[in-house]
Amino acid sequence: MKLITPTGMPDYIEAQLRYDDGRHGDGTLSATQIMKPIRVIVLAERHGADIEYPLENFVESKLGEAWHTAVTTAVKERYPDRFIVEREFSHTFDVDGVKVEVKGTPDLIRLPTVDEPQCQLIDLKSTKTYGVQKGDARDKWATQLSIYRVLLAMQPKPYYCDDYGEVTALFKDWSESWAERSKDYPQANEVTYSDIPLMPVEMGHEYIVGRLRAILRGRETQDDELPMCTPEEMWFNAKKGQFNHCRKWCAAREFCGQYPRVLTGELTMDYHGQWRS
Ligand code: SF4
Repeated sequence: MKLITPTGMPDYIEAQLRYDDGRHGDGTLSATQIMKPIRVIVLAERHGADIEYPLENFVESKLGEAWHTAVTTAVKERYPDRFIVEREFSHTFDVDGVKVEVKGTPDLIRLPTVDEPQCQLIDLKSTKTYGVQKGDARDKWATQLSIYRVLLAMQPKPYYCDDYGEVTALFKDWSESWAERSKDYPQANEVTYSDIPLMPVEMGHEYIVGRLRAILRGRETQDDELPMCTPEEMWFNAKKGQFNHCRKWCAAREFCGQYPRVLTGELTMDYHGQWRS
């Protein structure tokens, strides 16, 4: 990926936005990657070196990373025996005879105690209030934590996790006045959700293998034949009529034929939620 620096950005900010602590991109599929739309995964793999991406898009995620590091550093120091902090787990899955490795790094794993005989998976998310209110964010968290649950259960010395995971969300756009107006709105700028239901290990295993099968199939498919992204995957905002992921965030946009066809009206959504030309 070629990161494009905007004119006038100070060198020290550029240095911070370009800083990579080595946690990203060693080529193995990660838990969060396999959850992405197949079209995005395959186009990014295929055209990664030619993709241009604006550096300023990292500002939001860097803020989240800073909070994340503050929490995990403090936990590591204060409770060294109570949590596993940011340890990477991986497992090689057999997908119809093809071996594919998947890795995942849960933010925190609360270790078993006499009262709680199972581990608890915990993730830290810096996010916006909208996705959490709509419910999509919680579904994604549940899937991500379920993938971790499988990876942990597949270790030579397995860790068995509780049926419910925990996510603490830091809201980037939280507003006190909105919280006063609506009880459905998050009531604080940092909220812990301890009731994230996880898939049983067998079901999670099937989910992972299904995703990997779709990715392998996608790798054999030409760009214009790849499965279409859904409006939800494109982050469709009905009020504004915009596809926010395509418009701003999707790293594969430059090489995607679907988004331009949606913009020109060549592709439209039918009543069953299927794209039609
Ligand atoms: S630009 Fe939009 S439609 Fe194309 S791959 Fe990205 S998310 Fe999907």
